[in-house]
Amino acid sequence: MMQITSLFLPLSLTVSQSNSSLKKHRSRSIFSPFFCCFRNYNEYHVEPPPTNNKTPSLPPLPEENGSPPKPPAKFLLPEVSIADYGKNCVVIDLDETLVHSSFKPISNADFIVPVEIDGTVHQVYVLKRPHVDEFLQKMGELFECVLFTASLAKYADPVADLLDQWGVFRARLFRESCVFHRGNYVKDLSRLGRELSKVIIIDNSPASYIFHPENAVPVQSWFEDMTDTELLDLIPLFEGLSKEEDVYSLLQSLRNR
Ligand SMILES: [Mg+2]
Repeated sequence: MMQITSLFLPLSLTVSQSNSSLKKHRSRSIFSPFFCCFRNYNEYHVEPPPTNNKTPSLPPLPEENGSPPKPPAKFLLPEVSIADYGKNCVVIDLDETLVHSSFKPISNADFIVPVEIDGTVHQVYVLKRPHVDEFLQKMGELFECVLFTASLAKYADPVADLLDQWGVFRARLFRESCVFHRGNYVKDLSRLGRELSKVIIIDNSPASYIFHPENAVPVQSWFEDMTDTELLDLIPLFEGLSKEEDVYSLLQSLRNR
């Protein structure tokens, strides 16, 4: 069971556990070699430099002469679509930010997702955080939205299919797109291929954005509280962030509050 729970994060949690127990219970069975065959969602390559200023933020490509900084071999995201041109990019976490999932059967699950593990199909019970539909639709209007989860694609991809009825997520990034750093799966925003001053990450786990804390909108971990209004309450902040050329000063004022 320990290995099975490494499908999604946090690990070994059930719906009955409180937020305060989160840190204590973050066991690291994620090291398990159980899931070894990740789907490769990273086969995006650096596009040629744009001729129309559409993606001015990509790091420079190496020059023949001289020694400019070496860009990443490839970015996690494809080129910005025309529909999203000029929008800031919001990177949205899945587990305990938008939903809570468990192998423990619950009667009020919003989705039940079958996931095959080692030849056996297990049911994953997914609860939607209150106001997630409104939040996602709004995010889709305001931003280029990317789902970025440390969970495995075989679980998170079907959940995203059910959750995102509007096609809000322009891209979905899974565990293999994270950097494993000091026992945590870190979402390295510099690998996205977007200008960092236009990137916001919303995530319940500060470890996920430890490389870029200044880009973060922290959110309380959610498990089962049906009176939670965090996503709804965050909409005005995101409306403000969507209008910023550079998100850092507004996010800094949020941290200083
Ligand atoms: Mg999370």
